[in-house]
Amino acid sequence: MITNRAVFPALIALSLSTTTQAQIQGFTPASAAHETAVETKFKSIPNADEERRHHRIFTQEPHVAGSKRNNDLANYIADEWKKQGLEDVVIRRYDVYGTNPKSASLEMIAPTHYRALLKETPIPGDDDSSNPAISGAWLGMSISGEVTAPVIYAHSGNPEDYDLLRKNGIGVKGKIVLVRYSNPYSYRGFKALTAEREGAAAMLVYSDPQEDGYKKGKVDPDGPWGPEYHIQRGAITYDFIVPGDPQTPGWASVPGAKRIPIEQAMSAPKIMALPLSWHDAKPLLENLAGPEAPRNWQGEDWQGGLGFPYHLGSDKEQVHLKIEMENGLQPYYVVEGRIRGSELPDEWVVLGNHRDAWVFGGVDPSSGTASMMELTRALGELRKQGMRPRRTIIVCSWDGEEVGLTGSTEWGEQFADDLRQKGVAYINVDEATSGPNFHGQAVASLAPMLEETARSLNDSSGKTLYEAWKETVAREKAEGNQSGPFNSGTTSDTLADTRIGSGSDHTVFLNFIGMPVLGLGFEGDYGVYHSAYDDFFWMNHFGDPGYKYHTLMSQLWGVTALRLANADLLPFDFATYASNIRQFVNDLAKANEKNMWGQPPSAVRSSEARQPHPNHDVILSGGEAGAEDPTKDCATCAASGSESDRLNLREVQHAIDNFEAAGKNLKESVARKLFEGKLDPQTALTLNQGMMRVERNWLNPDGIPGRPWFKHILYGARFTYAHLELPGLTEAVEKQDWPVAKQQAEILEQAIKTNTKLLLDLTADLAH
Ligand SMILES: [Zn+2]
Repeated sequence: MITNRAVFPALIALSLSTTTQAQIQGFTPASAAHETAVETKFKSIPNADEERRHHRIFTQEPHVAGSKRNNDLANYIADEWKKQGLEDVVIRRYDVYGTNPKSASLEMIAPTHYRALLKETPIPGDDDSSNPAISGAWLGMSISGEVTAPVIYAHSGNPEDYDLLRKNGIGVKGKIVLVRYSNPYSYRGFKALTAEREGAAAMLVYSDPQEDGYKKGKVDPDGPWGPEYHIQRGAITYDFIVPGDPQTPGWASVPGAKRIPIEQAMSAPKIMALPLSWHDAKPLLENLAGPEAPRNWQGEDWQGGLGFPYHLGSDKEQVHLKIEMENGLQPYYVVEGRIRGSELPDEWVVLGNHRDAWVFGGVDPSSGTASMMELTRALGELRKQGMRPRRTIIVCSWDGEEVGLTGSTEWGEQFADDLRQKGVAYINVDEATSGPNFHGQAVASLAPMLEETARSLNDSSGKTLYEAWKETVAREKAEGNQSGPFNSGTTSDTLADTRIGSGSDHTVFLNFIGMPVLGLGFEGDYGVYHSAYDDFFWMNHFGDPGYKYHTLMSQLWGVTALRLANADLLPFDFATYASNIRQFVNDLAKANEKNMWGQPPSAVRSSEARQPHPNHDVILSGGEAGAEDPTKDCATCAASGSESDRLNLREVQHAIDNFEAAGKNLKESVARKLFEGKLDPQTALTLNQGMMRVERNWLNPDGIPGRPWFKHILYGARFTYAHLELPGLTEAVEKQDWPVAKQQAEILEQAIKTNTKLLLDLTADLAH
């Protein structure tokens, strides 16, 4: 750990002269030497042939949540884990509100007739793409229904898009909106909720070649981008309000559990929705009359990549849509296995990957599942050779992630009390690899340890993974490309993304249980997400032909887990946490300068044409920084002229300073103690148990206002799944609800003070 170097240069110099032992954050020199040997053994086990063999097994057939194939794979994983040497392997059943397609049809009936294909055609050379079990076009949790109505093009389907339509005199009540998947990523469920709120009868969502098709590069089978017929399936569940089974919000769907009526379920959509390939969207778009869609409206181009001018629609273009769904109770299965800890069996490091896929799931999630199977094989091998981890490592294969983060949420809710006592950290791998570029996510306290771990692995280019990661981050920063659900944005002092949104199975652990989380993935050009073409062929031609990154993922995932499982003192860095929280607060203050202080915006901000009301342009959008009509009178601006000091964050800033100082002190004391190598078990236990409480202390039992399930006060998610720091406070500020904002700031300040006191106590314990 670099800390040692900074704090004790003399001691380190001495240690380097007398030994070549590796320094690892959280380990005494002797333990670090042992750990290095364990890791070397571990890293030697995963191999590319086995990764590929497993990837083939998981991508052989479509395996959507609730399907027989997906359930067979649960049994397969359980059997394999037993053979590999995992312990206490169980399959847990949850009876949840699931979703399945029955039939769908879409026809344009005026001004011309077109019957949509709603299917993906086979690709030459890719035998799997002609598998008759491939589903047609469908979106999970759509309702059933039939409607004939005008179709309106609503761009990305975000709230500000409907504002522009209104400005053009176009309403969408009772009509069918045609929207497109967007870049930067915005969760389709948020588009559905927005369409529902606007009173639309149905939503069609299509993949424009501008976003993931031929405008980006060569398409499958000649390149990684999405071909003409690719359909992005997906769920539209409103899991940004509450994830998991919609009928058991906040508790587990175990046998006999209370279930609320689906009509009362906040997360169950009440709108019909269907995805389209651009092949099927083109005849609709081509035939729309009405005003031409804008080429530059607040920086957004409503035109797309199809090569003709897009229009908004005139109400004369009619389509007939019929969707039949089979939504209802069905079992989902979570597979759970573990290696029991030799010394601290009641401290748990939890690892997970979802198993269910929209079709074959080449990248999403089967690349992660293959990596997991090699990781568990290596863990089992170590155990057989007597190298049992000190803490327990639990591995889970989740079900129904794609539907509403369902399996992990139910499991987390079932074991919430245990996890709040015993949970050290959760490490998620969803898409292990769609290319060579590493992205690591971590709560800020674990960002330094993840970076240190990356130094101990080698990228196939021969560099360390750390160096390769650094180059990726630098390149993406230069390109301004830091969007997407899984690479949410770094802060100034870490390579890891410490701004964590939702959209995968880490959510229950972070936001409901209060466990530190990490998320790992290699990314690249990938235009076949959630389509039938995301398969074995695609992976072998574009994503990871040599299965090197699958192998590297198994190694990285395992080494990260082993460090957390074997550390003498858990490698949390609370000083880094403090400096991240300071950045979160500063960013909030900056983005809402005028709101919070009642002062005029800075000259720079007021000159930004896109943000005429710079501080409350996010209020109605449900999250994404949309913008209001620059010409519209603004009641908020008029009312805000002379007020001052609506929200004062000075006390919060002060509390952060103290937390940072306490974090630095603890870090130095821990480094000294570890370097001395004399750590009695009782002190270690007290320290570790105490450090595990820090993340739990960020929970507010009442949750964030309006979303009680989301309890973390530092980390939350927008309705788009985008990261949202200080969620309760930020949303109150954006709504200019000052009483709630003050209350949320108070909750934040108290939590920081509680954790500061905790760190001071732990430092004192260490001194004894
Ligand atoms: Zn996934």
